Amino acid sequence: MGRKRPAPPRFPGLIDAHCHLDYPPMADDVAATLAAAAAVGVEQVLHIGCTRESQPRALALIDAHPQVFAAIGIHPHEGKTTDDTALAELRERAAHPKVLAIGETGLDYHYNLSDPPQQRESMAAHVALARQLDLPLVLHIRDAHEQALAIVQEVGPRERDPGMVHCFTGGPKEAEAWLALGFHLSFSGIATFPSAQDIREAACLTPDDRILLETDAPYLAPVPMRGTKNQPAFVAFTCAQLAQARQQDPLTLATKAAANTRALLRMPLPEAGAGPGSLPTRDPAHT
Ligand SMILES: [Zn+2]
Ligand SMILES: [Zn+2]
Repeated sequence: MGRKRPAPPRFPGLIDAHCHLDYPPMADDVAATLAAAAAVGVEQVLHIGCTRESQPRALALIDAHPQVFAAIGIHPHEGKTTDDTALAELRERAAHPKVLAIGETGLDYHYNLSDPPQQRESMAAHVALARQLDLPLVLHIRDAHEQALAIVQEVGPRERDPGMVHCFTGGPKEAEAWLALGFHLSFSGIATFPSAQDIREAACLTPDDRILLETDAPYLAPVPMRGTKNQPAFVAFTCAQLAQARQQDPLTLATKAAANTRALLRMPLPEAGAGPGSLPTRDPAHT
């Protein structure tokens, strides 16, 4: 309130690898949200449709906006709603060519809004479905890394590029475990919080070819925007601060994170979808 906030730095080609465009206030004007992101170089985003009710909204968003792609699934909070009908629906919706990943799924033992056994069952079903569809997973893991790693090892996602752990909140030990299984780690604004030394250590040990950047907007606005609603443009702040922690040029980190996102998700370059009437699809070069 009244405090002057800086504009996000500009990193051409940066991608927000995780946001929820259908939540307020972004939902009120998605086009303006995307324009603000593009103004700082964030030209593409991965939107997450993570309930049975919100999956159709995700499909509408990717149909309406060439720069928006989607992951769809059932959030661990909603694990109790995962049943055969929900999974059949999910499989059918995932056939859309701009659905690039399955999720977010996973385990959240911090809130336990669904019972842990329901969460585990839902996560296992998502892992199996992602493998069948040859899509990467978007995992949400909170206070449950050991249990989630066990499910991944037991059920088995696709072998190459199994997916990402989004909004990574573990430390170095958890990072090593996910990296060993071939996962990418995606860092959000949380990694910029002064108290998040452990997460920054995890970000520092993540190799250049496995790091992703995201906002998880509208949640978790990074420093110096804390206390405001987050939006895809703000991924640039996280990029700048993590580059500093990693002793890396921020544009280099932006470029690498974007290339990683693109390769993992088989997301085409912006040009491919920019023409009127052309519908971008999964990039066949990365199959
Ligand atoms: Zn999440
Ligand atoms: Zn999310």
